[in-house]
Amino acid sequence: MPPQSTTAGEETRIAYRTCNLCEATCGVAIEVSGDRVVRVRGDKEDPFSKGFICPKGSTLGELHHDPDRLTTPLIRRDGELVEATWDEAFAEIERRLNGVFEEHGRSALALILGNPIVHHVSTSLYVRPLVLSAGTMNLYSASTVDQMPQHLVSGLMWGDSSVFPLPDIDRTDHLLMLGANPVASNGSLVTAPDFPGRLKAMPARGGRLVVVDPRKSETAERADEHLFIRPGTDALWLAALVHTLFEEDLVSIGRLEPWVDGVEEVRARVASFTPERVASISGIDAETTRRQARDLAGAAAGAVYGRMGAHTVEFGSAAAWMTALLNILTGNFDRPGGVMTASPVASRIDDRKPGGRGYRTGRWKSRVSGHPEVNGEFPAAGLAEEMDTPGEGQTRAIISVASNPVRSFPNSERLDRAFGNLDFYLAIDVYVNESTRHADVILPPPSGLTEEQYELTFLANAVRSFVKYSPPVFDYEGLRDEDILAKVALILRGAGADADPAIIHKEMIEEGVDRQLKDAASPIAGRDRDEILAELADPSPIRQQLDLRLRTGWDGDLFGDKPGGISLAKLAKHPHGVDLGPMVERFPNRLKTESGKLELAPAQLVEDWERVCARLDTPVANDQLLLIGRRHVRSNNSWMHNVATLVKGRSRCTLLMNPEDARSRGLEDGKDCEISSRAGRLNVAIETSESMMPGVVSLPHGWGHDADGIRMSVAEAHPGVPSNVLTDDEIIDSASGNAVLNAIPVEVRAAS
Ligand code: SF4
Repeated sequence: MPPQSTTAGEETRIAYRTCNLCEATCGVAIEVSGDRVVRVRGDKEDPFSKGFICPKGSTLGELHHDPDRLTTPLIRRDGELVEATWDEAFAEIERRLNGVFEEHGRSALALILGNPIVHHVSTSLYVRPLVLSAGTMNLYSASTVDQMPQHLVSGLMWGDSSVFPLPDIDRTDHLLMLGANPVASNGSLVTAPDFPGRLKAMPARGGRLVVVDPRKSETAERADEHLFIRPGTDALWLAALVHTLFEEDLVSIGRLEPWVDGVEEVRARVASFTPERVASISGIDAETTRRQARDLAGAAAGAVYGRMGAHTVEFGSAAAWMTALLNILTGNFDRPGGVMTASPVASRIDDRKPGGRGYRTGRWKSRVSGHPEVNGEFPAAGLAEEMDTPGEGQTRAIISVASNPVRSFPNSERLDRAFGNLDFYLAIDVYVNESTRHADVILPPPSGLTEEQYELTFLANAVRSFVKYSPPVFDYEGLRDEDILAKVALILRGAGADADPAIIHKEMIEEGVDRQLKDAASPIAGRDRDEILAELADPSPIRQQLDLRLRTGWDGDLFGDKPGGISLAKLAKHPHGVDLGPMVERFPNRLKTESGKLELAPAQLVEDWERVCARLDTPVANDQLLLIGRRHVRSNNSWMHNVATLVKGRSRCTLLMNPEDARSRGLEDGKDCEISSRAGRLNVAIETSESMMPGVVSLPHGWGHDADGIRMSVAEAHPGVPSNVLTDDEIIDSASGNAVLNAIPVEVRAAS
């Protein structure tokens, strides 16, 4: 691959790339001088993001040059993490893992996969051989502290847990948004760079934005209407909207009506959820609820979009289910301006007739609480009990990849203690953070700017079909993500610490090609294997696999059968990316349920609904404070707190509280309070704000950088407090296994 294109003077060059710090995938122009990043700006020629960039994106250089970022493996010797060679580190991993396996078996191992994995094409691809080689069912990831309810609902209703309903933000006339704050987050489970700009464009075409949130968030500030809702009651309120659609004869499914099953079952399940009955629970009056249902049903094209605040609660799956029902019952599912699904360029579009294998959960269960697996994972909230409950199968060894569970999973303090008692902990990570400080070995991947880049995960959730590949910005000679993960996978297979990662690289590309050649539906079925492999020859295993996916994707060049189609070679000529248009109708052919229908009332969700029904009859404790999280545009997860530019200024880690709630408790703005829940307690400064719904307090997540032994100097100077000390690992959304990070009952009093 030739060096990155150079458009500036002799001493600097501009590398065009995509910011990979969040889901928005903004194009960036990185000005580089020698081995230094000089400046990062938005790439105005990127057809998807058009020059937009947020404060985080401009710090890609700071992250790259962060002196705290590990560049050498660390091994624990005499209680201290000390530098070691890669060979020493792999030998130690082999020795220690084998020791655990011999004594306790494979079931003593757990894998934890962190959110940054999906922001790198290398880790996205190579986590699979790691998981397959581990020989354990104990898999945890960021999904169960985030979006597992949507995976479950997608799997049960249309048969594919990876296909998300995306609000067609650029064409919708009416957007009803719950528990999301894209002006700060830039979007979640939907990739739409410059989300704030796209929202701003809505009024010009007569569009209307309604935000339902217990905090008048930055997004709510820009909405046509904001409604406070009591945290954790989204599912009930959405059910009242569905109820109103039936009651007022507003159901109109439209084009997909012949493909829908379960309408009458849904009608029966929401019958008791009258707007009047739900009003005292949600805090939204009945007339407003009815008006919202009518406005949605009456919009030329409308969309309902719910995220973190609606999903990371006790009824997260029920909320995701009701959201999908509203979109389907108003004819807005798979309709321009409603919610649609992406057409990722690196994937084939299966145009065979509707129907498939369906979706199963609970194929195995967790040891202590019997949590069913969902998407092959156990709940993050169940990790601590697996680690600290003795018995056969107790988790005694962990491999984590890009994860800081001690800060991101519920009940931080219990988890922190459990990590301190492991027999062996391997962390693949760039920082010594609150979790990895407990590690026995840390393997540091290189900076993202030394890697190939393709947004494999997020372009699969994008509101436009967009494609862009970027080569590494800087040369790098050491082990890359794919080599590190392949080496660990080989150790897990018993191939030894010296095994060559090329074994796995070769296997992966050959398996990928064979899968295509043997699949009768593949556009290259039956082609010559050697010829295809020869076409894919490249020193980079990532480029090989990416090229295979792109060339066999829905607009791929099919290895010459479709001249002008997409290939890596073609993308090299388009450093700003190629836009292939907005989302298009994909249903009913995208249905992969066993019935071949869009299942409105899957048995699993109907059964789970009993929990929500029980809530209808539970008296509301009006004097109970409920804790919610919040997002800031300068933060993402814990690891972004080591960037000086992003944490400077006054502390953002405060407890937001309605002034009346503070006054009634004798609390003062700016003073410390003590906040406690069943799980833990901590002290934090109060910030009073009318933006908070009375009875609700808010604390941002990912903070708490004052633990002994961490090596993140900037974060340590701006520690904040860890909100997950308060979140409770004993409450989960039992249908999906998702953690409950919002609507936590808390007490707040003056700090003693
Ligand atoms: S919005 Fe996300 S992708 Fe865009 S610059 Fe900011 S962090 Fe990067």
